[in-house]
Amino acid sequence: MEFQSGSFDCAIIGGGLAGLCLAIQLVEKDISVVLFEKNKYPFHKVCGEYISMESWDFLSGLGLPLAELGLPVIHQLGISSEKGFMLNHSLHMGGFGISRYSLDDYLSKIAIEKGVVIFENCKVNSVNTIFVNNYEINSTSGSFSSKVVCGSYGKYMPAFMQKSINVVKENSNYIGVKYHIKADLPSNKIELHNFTDGYCGISKVDNDWHCLCYLTTSKNLHENGKDIKQMEENILYKNPFLEKYFTQSEFINSNPLVISNVQFSKKYTDLNGIFLLGDAAGSITPLCGNGMSMGMRASKLLATELIKLFANKQLKKEVIVNYKASWNQAFNRRIMAGYYLQNLFGKRNTTDYALRILSGLPLITSKLVSLTHGERF
Ligand SMILES: Cc1cc2nc3c(=O)[nH]c(=O)nc-3n(C[C@H](O)[C@H](O)[C@H](O)COP(=O)(O)OP(=O)(O)OC[C@H]3O[C@@H](n4cnc5c(N)ncnc54)[C@H](O)[C@@H]3O)c2cc1C
Repeated sequence: MEFQSGSFDCAIIGGGLAGLCLAIQLVEKDISVVLFEKNKYPFHKVCGEYISMESWDFLSGLGLPLAELGLPVIHQLGISSEKGFMLNHSLHMGGFGISRYSLDDYLSKIAIEKGVVIFENCKVNSVNTIFVNNYEINSTSGSFSSKVVCGSYGKYMPAFMQKSINVVKENSNYIGVKYHIKADLPSNKIELHNFTDGYCGISKVDNDWHCLCYLTTSKNLHENGKDIKQMEENILYKNPFLEKYFTQSEFINSNPLVISNVQFSKKYTDLNGIFLLGDAAGSITPLCGNGMSMGMRASKLLATELIKLFANKQLKKEVIVNYKASWNQAFNRRIMAGYYLQNLFGKRNTTDYALRILSGLPLITSKLVSLTHGERF
């Protein structure tokens, strides 16, 4: 591998949605940006692939031709209990479906076209502070320097970021599992199916596929001999909807994509002088279906502050304070709402009871959904 070097205004660690969106907004203001992504585009990710409509205008504004892609627009929600009861509800704002394989790839191409320097297959191993506005980034492609560093590395904090904090090992530990399937299901509906200690989302994406993605405890997997298939048959199939979808759909890949050690909490908006965004700053339970929109919105909040920094209109210490305040204002409430709502999910009797009550209270159901979402931006 050829080792490179270079000097940039901003270095971004991690090229998921949050990092790519930030890079595009900065480069559009003539701020030089280098972005490091340890995988090679395009690639699949464990994600439900339902994007809340709040991000439509933002993504279109970055140059993604969403209106031309013929994506499924989703306005109906169905939530089932393990006992087979289904709550049906109209979504006020709704969302749309697109695979991460396509979405991240589109955004990486837009970023490159606009002038972002992207290193793919490139892992950042450490960041050293030289001065307050001068960092050295050591990656598998070489060493680079930048005035500002942003971390959009997703839900797993790299070892080099952990040096100044106590990493608390949380008790609740989840795994995420994803398939693409071909199924005879409506394209305008997202379904969430509960099972013991987990739930599974199904909604349409591009390519005429549906994304089937579930979250469950690692305990469920361990109790089933760490065998995904066995766990699905023993636990997920108890929900009659899931049994039908698993046994009657065409699976594009028989082996799912699996991630472990998934946790949901607020983390930090900056650490070791590095600004954090997306899941790196904090994540919401996936039942809310808007972690992606939060990552994109955070990129806009941070870009607004960094653009002022590079225009010499504020100091770095002001960016730290302002970004933290706007992040908390935008997301604290919905992260908490998601956390409490998750307690109603994944339980055989409680979930069934809650869904039957909510089915007679559409206004309250709408309120609960809206608590976990923001306005269009
Ligand atoms: C089971 C599940 C279902 C979900 N369903 C939905 C849904 O339907 N709708 C929704 O809106 N949200 C959903 N989410 C949440 C959503 O997937 C995340 O909020 C979103 O992906 C966060 O984007 P990000 O850019 O912060 O991180 P990511 O998309 O994870 O990107 C981080 C990137 O950083 C790279 N990286 C990490 N470390 C390094 C390093 N050291 N050097 C270089 N690169 C590095 C990684 O390879 C990765 O590409 C779901 C989450 C889970 C777990």
